Amino acid sequence: MKHNFGAGPGILPHEVLKQAAAAVVDFNGIGLSLLEISHRSSEFEAVLDEAVKLVKELLEVPEGYSVLFLQGGASTQFAMVPYNLLPSTGKAAYVESGVWANKALKEAKFFGEVDVIASSKESNFTYIPKDYTVPADAAYLHLTSNNTIYGTQLHEFPASPIPVVCDMSSDIFSRKINVADFGIIYAGAQKNMGPAGTTLVIVKDEILGKVDRKIPAMLNYQVQIEGGSMYNTPPVFAIYVSMLTLNWLKAKGGVEAIAKENKAKSKALYEEIDRNPLFKAVCAVEDRSDMNVCFVMENPELEKPFLKLCDEKGIVGIKGHRSVGGFRASIYNALPITSVHVLIDAMQEFQEKNK
Ligand code: PMP
Repeated sequence: MKHNFGAGPGILPHEVLKQAAAAVVDFNGIGLSLLEISHRSSEFEAVLDEAVKLVKELLEVPEGYSVLFLQGGASTQFAMVPYNLLPSTGKAAYVESGVWANKALKEAKFFGEVDVIASSKESNFTYIPKDYTVPADAAYLHLTSNNTIYGTQLHEFPASPIPVVCDMSSDIFSRKINVADFGIIYAGAQKNMGPAGTTLVIVKDEILGKVDRKIPAMLNYQVQIEGGSMYNTPPVFAIYVSMLTLNWLKAKGGVEAIAKENKAKSKALYEEIDRNPLFKAVCAVEDRSDMNVCFVMENPELEKPFLKLCDEKGIVGIKGHRSVGGFRASIYNALPITSVHVLIDAMQEFQEKNK
């Protein structure tokens, strides 16, 4: 058995993978694969409806919001957000808390003025910038709730006089959020929700229609809303597996229940990192992520032998991102706490061996 700490595409519940595999051969006993039926068939429409319903239920999405399953990954949202929200004579406010935030703000510059109101770039993004004022005259504020590469997470969202757009790619469905506080939430599916190939977008309808530029259909939220995520052929498999994963989450008790498990996992792991003299965490303590736990070794020469030990124990995917080095244990919703304990045991065994 493998313990999958990969950062994304990340671990999915085993039972979901089994259901998905069966549906590829014979979907719901109809004698056809999910992959060879029309996206406009009643069978697939039921899947999409169920997926949207589960998103609304699990995140308690209020009236006045649309739930979309789009393509192009979170990276397409980096452009789609300013395309739809940033007037060419206006400006948008961005908090630069990591490389993904940086990519988002670079795309926005194609459409209008970008005000980077805070950045932790000078410290290689080891903390979340908090000391800033949100300009009331900007079209929107863009945040990244969890910085996948650095292992920092926004534990408290700032108050904002303007619509908040948030990239939640790596912590969506991991904890309770108040959707009403956001203008747009977007997330690539491939961490906590499903396989790569679809992007969840939750958009407050009233913030749309305020720019006068022409927007190509596929990149136009209004067109996608009117088409019910079916302006063109949607990513049927990714939506189906996301639906199964959201159903799994619901059966586990929803986001509040999973948030408790996620806290227990991250707490146990950070405690071991803080206790074990061979390892150290890299980020500001108050910003530590419950999804991506980044740590390095006091003696970098021990990194390779530790990775080898991990490999022997079936621990995979913990090599850190190249821009941070060390290790990154991604402990997404589907990773059981037993896997976290296997990693902790390996860290303790390694300490014993290197006394
Ligand atoms: N934002 C964050 C926070 C991410 O972690 C990632 C991917 N790891 C992206 C955006 C980019 O997502 P995609 O590959 O779906 O475009």
